[in-house]
Amino acid sequence: MGPPFLSFLLMVVVISVALYAKFECIRFIDGFSLPPPSPAPFLTPRTERRSLDLRWADGSSPAIQFDKDKEVNVQVVLRCRPLSDEEQRLNVQKAISCIEQKKEVIVFQNSANKQVEKTFLFDKVFGPKAQQRSIYDYAISPFVKDVLEGYNCTVFAYGQTGTGKTYTMEGEMKFKGGDFSGDAGVIPRAVRHIFDALESQKSDYSMKVTFLELYNEEITDLLVSEEHSRTMDEKQRRPISLMEDGKGGAIIRGLQEEVVYSANDIFNLLERGSAKRRITDTMLNKQSSRSHSIFSITIHVKEVTLGNEELIKCGRLNLVDLAGSENISKSGVREVRAREAGEMNKSLLTLGRVITALVEHSGHVPYRDSKLTRLLRDSLGGKSKTCIIATISPSVLCLEETMSTLDYAYRAKSIRNKPEANR
Ligand code: ADP
Ligand code: MG
Repeated sequence: MGPPFLSFLLMVVVISVALYAKFECIRFIDGFSLPPPSPAPFLTPRTERRSLDLRWADGSSPAIQFDKDKEVNVQVVLRCRPLSDEEQRLNVQKAISCIEQKKEVIVFQNSANKQVEKTFLFDKVFGPKAQQRSIYDYAISPFVKDVLEGYNCTVFAYGQTGTGKTYTMEGEMKFKGGDFSGDAGVIPRAVRHIFDALESQKSDYSMKVTFLELYNEEITDLLVSEEHSRTMDEKQRRPISLMEDGKGGAIIRGLQEEVVYSANDIFNLLERGSAKRRITDTMLNKQSSRSHSIFSITIHVKEVTLGNEELIKCGRLNLVDLAGSENISKSGVREVRAREAGEMNKSLLTLGRVITALVEHSGHVPYRDSKLTRLLRDSLGGKSKTCIIATISPSVLCLEETMSTLDYAYRAKSIRNKPEANR
């Protein structure tokens, strides 16, 4: 080996060290360091899919492509709650009439001493007497099959605070004698349904859940108990960050995923998460009506084909209790907490724009404009299904908010079915 070869070797070593240092340096400057090694590293759905070499049962690639010819799977369901006991006692008048058979909601407004009617049509309308079970059976139950088939499905509860978003999504969460109370909402029913379906299917599966809150565009992990947060060191306590994976997806760094084996495992986590939500809301003097919560169940189902080939399907169900819609209409000039309102605005407004862009098949979908849409990007559009449950109050005192909810929800629906114009 002559001196030229040695100097070449030296040069290669120097260049490699320099490149490595630069890479580390960039990482350092950007403030991203690799997460501490953990036994179950968080994998985004996209990385999961890649690492599992997922294929659909028909052998096609799982890469989600937006099919321009296919109808977008956005369904808008309207639910009107009953007048509360207090409202009845005060003899509050109703301004809403639901005609379930016609899927119509009629709003009565007094204008210049005459009553004006406005009618909205939805994919389905549930009046004040509708049972929790009917809503689940109609709007959510078909999603369970889709999720087990490898689709991503999302249910949003959208509406003014006090109109029944949390009642619809959570309701009564406890089992009584192994069964539901009639008040059980979408989440407990979906959890039970998923486990029942998996058991009857007899396929191997694994299931993970995450539960987070988005407040003021900041993410809180609701599955990390307060006690655990206190014992964490500085590095672990770093706020959860949301980053692009460079391929259009999102990586949520630092979010805990819990592996679950039974419906009860999930109920315990939900109880823990909801308790934490209440505690942090009080501690930080936040109003839960201003925060969005996202509960996600990710399921991998293993299937063995006739040719003895293993297929793994990965589906996800997101159950989203959105911030009160009044955060949109009352924000701006009148709001003191302008930043908060602005951020809330951003997520709710962007969600509306994203859905509009999807149903209109427009080239640009503004996912990147808010954290909520960045978080749910994998589950909005493409090979995914969405159901918006818009909740309203029948009270004449809520009329302004009700109209704004109906407009928001109707926009998502009407674009798809243009002939059904508003009368
Ligand atoms: P939100 O989450 O939209 O702020 P909640 O779910 O907390 O509203 O509902 C407000 C109140 O109204 C709760 O006491 C809830 O039990 C009650 N409620 C809401 N919807 C219904 C309904 N469809 N039937 C009976 N009670 C309801
Ligand atoms: Mg609520």
